[in-house]
Amino acid sequence: MIQLTHYDIKYLAGVGPKRAELLDKELGIRSFYDLLVNFPFRYIDKSTLHHIKDLQGDDLPSVQLKGHFITFTTQGEGARRRLVGLFTDGTGTIECVWFNRLKFIQQSYRTGVDYIVFGKPTPYKRTFSIIHPEVDEYEQVKDRAGMVGVYNLTERLRKRGFSSRLFQKLNKNLLESDIAKRITDTLPAELRTRRMLMPLYEAVSNMHAPTSVEALQRAQRRMKYEELFFLELHILKNIKAVSKKLRGHVFRHVGEYFNTFYSQHLPFPLTEAQKRVIKEIRADMGSGQQMNRLLQGDVGSGKTIVAFFTALIALDNCYQACLMAPTEILARQHYEAISEMAAKIGVSVGLLTGSTRKREREAIHAGLLDGSLQLLIGTHALLEDVVQYRNLGLAIIDEQHRFGVAQRARLWKKNTTPPHVLVMTATPIPRTLSMTVYGDLDVSVINELPPGRKPVNTYLRYEEHHAKVYEFIESELKKGRQAYIVYPLIEENEKLDLLALEEGYEIVQQRFPQYQVSMVHGKMKPAEKDAQMQKFVNRETHILVATTVIEVGVNVPNASVMVIENAERFGLSQLHQLRGRVGRGADQSYCILMSHFKLSKDTKHRLEVMTATNDGFVVAEEDMKLRGPGDMEGTQQSGIAFNLKVANLASDGAILEQARQDAIQTLEADPNLASEMGRKLEATMKVIYQHTENWGLIS
Ligand code: ADP
Ligand code: MG
Repeated sequence: MIQLTHYDIKYLAGVGPKRAELLDKELGIRSFYDLLVNFPFRYIDKSTLHHIKDLQGDDLPSVQLKGHFITFTTQGEGARRRLVGLFTDGTGTIECVWFNRLKFIQQSYRTGVDYIVFGKPTPYKRTFSIIHPEVDEYEQVKDRAGMVGVYNLTERLRKRGFSSRLFQKLNKNLLESDIAKRITDTLPAELRTRRMLMPLYEAVSNMHAPTSVEALQRAQRRMKYEELFFLELHILKNIKAVSKKLRGHVFRHVGEYFNTFYSQHLPFPLTEAQKRVIKEIRADMGSGQQMNRLLQGDVGSGKTIVAFFTALIALDNCYQACLMAPTEILARQHYEAISEMAAKIGVSVGLLTGSTRKREREAIHAGLLDGSLQLLIGTHALLEDVVQYRNLGLAIIDEQHRFGVAQRARLWKKNTTPPHVLVMTATPIPRTLSMTVYGDLDVSVINELPPGRKPVNTYLRYEEHHAKVYEFIESELKKGRQAYIVYPLIEENEKLDLLALEEGYEIVQQRFPQYQVSMVHGKMKPAEKDAQMQKFVNRETHILVATTVIEVGVNVPNASVMVIENAERFGLSQLHQLRGRVGRGADQSYCILMSHFKLSKDTKHRLEVMTATNDGFVVAEEDMKLRGPGDMEGTQQSGIAFNLKVANLASDGAILEQARQDAIQTLEADPNLASEMGRKLEATMKVIYQHTENWGLIS
């Protein structure tokens, strides 16, 4: 197959130098191979014709109609200028509407001739209209049956005469050439048999011109498998290559600190998930290679104590550990929780942030150097060059997405051998995604909440319910609870959003005169922000009006209500993060999503997912379905280009699982891909990933 990369597209029958230049510019198609893997992005079932009189509903799929145009008229002015073709199939009429290339369209189609019109009807006045339909002369397409591919076309390609039909023809020419007929399969025969995959030539042919719906499905499965197999092979091979290079400290034993704390001072029984994760971490840090592990656990799943045990393992092996949090408040909260536990077993803990006083800071620096300070907690301040350790063996990073890769790299330089790294995040990543992004090598998941935790009751409410929602907040405040009210703050809308926030703050103050209200937003000075937050943490204020700055990590167990204004403007993972700020104490907590009444289908679905589940992984799966993997948190930092053409991580989990297993087995049998088949796989991989070599390591 990859032999086809050597053939310049201009030599294909029907292309030539001019079209070749255009194909390269518009779609990056340069070789026979490029054209062949430029698959249709959808297929139309041309075997069914619809009747206009049967069309109903406001969300119809694309339909195919046979009939003729009665009139063409130009309507409107300026940008609204359009060509309207009144079309009938004998059962009714619809309007075909074009906004571009009016002259060209008017010259191309005539009244009285039979056409096949294809497109998505939208209700318009008493009938339907189709914007920019595909129009074919009936005589030319009447013999065409079954599934027909639709190809990506740019405006320029269209103008220069490219159409789906032309792509179909070019691919036909290509597939019938001797060169294409000689292509060999990219996958080992053994895999093809075991996974019952269609042979490559047959699959590619059916991708472009399906012989049946069933054949198309089999072809798609084959191509998805292939795409995911090479993706996994690529990732696994690279991660393996890198991890071999990085030797790590060997934490051979679990000693006194760990055992004493575990047997005598455990504040609560650990959940099974916490125990499993601690075991995974232990094994990893004893392996001789540097640990680079991502710990995923929903908000409130108990990551802090896992971090503490991880640190104790380092200490037991005579190394120091540090824990870095993205904000001062979070660092302080960690410090408070951890130093309380540490005090019981005589472990020394320090807190270093931007506001640590000079004398204290100097004491910390000295303690780190002489080794008397064992565990340091703090913010970015930990990264400064003056912070030097006697023997740093472990770095824990909380809430990963606030720290970039470059910052993390600075931690590595704090010892001659890089410390083990544990990154903790409360943003669950769907399993299919983490498998892909991280090759599934270094991810630990706490998939269980501590017992007795009550799920947050989540409700969707509309503008007109505000009074009721305030009454509800009041009833909770009367019980001694606290409440969050969150407003969106989107950069493009910054001024208006801040205005809305400040207005909201005033309304809330007036509505709750007997209570104290804090306000925080990202545009405040950090010191002011921290002071306001701290008041809420200390219960000096009862309501916190804020933007999403409170999203990450803040722990106020006494807060039981989270009201999110304009919830329709937040993404799913953000909503879930925000909701995680409540439900941290023993009391029943509530999350109220306030929204406009008119919601699009997607938005409504998003908000309903929130009311239906508390499970962060379910939320993340839904999020990926709605947004696609490229926009997910975690994906962007991984640097992996998700240029999947046929496979879809949200829906092809089962195929991915198989492809990954097979990739692992392939590499186990032939780690350097040195066999004949291995070399062939490597060559294919190179062709697929020639433009995407620059992706980084884990997170
Ligand atoms: P997160 O994963 O969000 O960082 P934390 O570590 O802050 O979660 O834990 C949330 C709360 O749950 C804390 O108050 C903590 O003491 C408590 N907790 C953690 N693990 C358990 C457990 N196994 N049993 C009971 N409570 C637990
Ligand atoms: Mg936490």
